[in-house]
Amino acid sequence: MIRSFDAAIIGGGPAGSATAVGLAKRGLKVALFEKNLGTPWKIGESLPPEARPLLQKLGAWERFCKDEHLSSSGIVSQWGGHNPVEKDYIFNPNGSGWHVDRSRFESNLLELAQHCSVAIFQGKEPEKFDFSNSGHSFSVGAERFQSDWIVDCSGRKAQFATSVSGPYQKLDAMVSIFVLFRSKDKSDVDARTFVESCEDGWWYSALMPSGVRIVAYQTDQDLLPEQESITNNWIDLKLEQTSKISNLLSQHSCKAVSAPRIVSAHAGRFDCFVGKTWISVGDSAMTFDPLSGLGSYKALLMASAAVEHLTGGPDYQQFCEQLWTNFLEQRLSYYESEKRWHKHAFWKRRRLK
Ligand SMILES: Cc1cc2nc3c(=O)[nH]c(=O)nc-3n(C[C@H](O)[C@H](O)[C@H](O)COP(=O)(O)OP(=O)(O)OC[C@H]3O[C@@H](n4cnc5c(N)ncnc54)[C@H](O)[C@@H]3O)c2cc1C
Repeated sequence: MIRSFDAAIIGGGPAGSATAVGLAKRGLKVALFEKNLGTPWKIGESLPPEARPLLQKLGAWERFCKDEHLSSSGIVSQWGGHNPVEKDYIFNPNGSGWHVDRSRFESNLLELAQHCSVAIFQGKEPEKFDFSNSGHSFSVGAERFQSDWIVDCSGRKAQFATSVSGPYQKLDAMVSIFVLFRSKDKSDVDARTFVESCEDGWWYSALMPSGVRIVAYQTDQDLLPEQESITNNWIDLKLEQTSKISNLLSQHSCKAVSAPRIVSAHAGRFDCFVGKTWISVGDSAMTFDPLSGLGSYKALLMASAAVEHLTGGPDYQQFCEQLWTNFLEQRLSYYESEKRWHKHAFWKRRRLK
């Protein structure tokens, strides 16, 4: 037996769930496939105030408020000089930002999708794709499925988009090395995001709702020592380059509660974001420098635009092109504004782009 859907979504991250909810609300029969059972820990905890109207439009706002995400009053950055500059959300019409419990955030969106009659298949990965006049067909285990649209929301892996979206333009080779810290006496309650630049990259730190603080160092892959040398001691030494973040950690006697982990954090995009019977949304279409802290927000924004496109609205390719152009301008202005290490490879590479 073949199970038939109007749209099959690959991936249950923010892009996948939001697209599923949007399409289901427009009356489409939607299936969502997420390879993981449950929602494993993922990096990416900051949500800007601008996410609020998107969550409201999706019907996810009330659920979001019930979860105990941490309200964040702003961003403190030490960038381009020694004096910290604070961007306070107090002036933002959408209110504060958040540091979310990412697993809870994602599972809540998945539950909303289920509530909107999306058929959710967790622990399932579509494969063996075929295309004919009757649309796409593919296998999930022993079952065969058919769908008019394939919506690739599989994140940086871009499972489907890789074969249909044309060449991939990779802007850099950024990686992020992160360690989780916890204060000894739970005194660390500062929920602002901290950003600091240094010779070979930049750092950020954010407190999460669990009371654990993430500290992440962004640099280029080739500027790192061998992977085996990246230990907690190496991180401690590197942290001496920072002032705000290292002060914060010592002020609250924070101790590392994880070993360093490395994840890919490069910015890049495919040529094409939409075809006649497929569309890619979120990181599977384009990835942004984590400096923007906007990846999940942009995934929600793209999901909304994808739903419009698939239901006869404005052109999605054009929407994404504009998003990319804005990102490039913002990226250049951020990196150009740090002149202290203009001769260092990390900064030189970003100014040339
Ligand atoms: C260092 C770093 C820091 C970041 N910090 C922030 C931040 O503070 N704030 C922010 O908003 N963003 C941040 N981001 C970016 C953000 O995490 C992503 O942009 C966001 O997760 C994109 O959502 P997505 O749904 O497109 O992809 P993902 O969240 O990656 O979701 C993709 C999903 O697809 C599933 N999947 C993959 N392959 C398959 C398959 N074959 N079949 C079925 N399922 C599949 C995966 O399991 C996953 O659940 C950061 C990124 C990095 C690298």
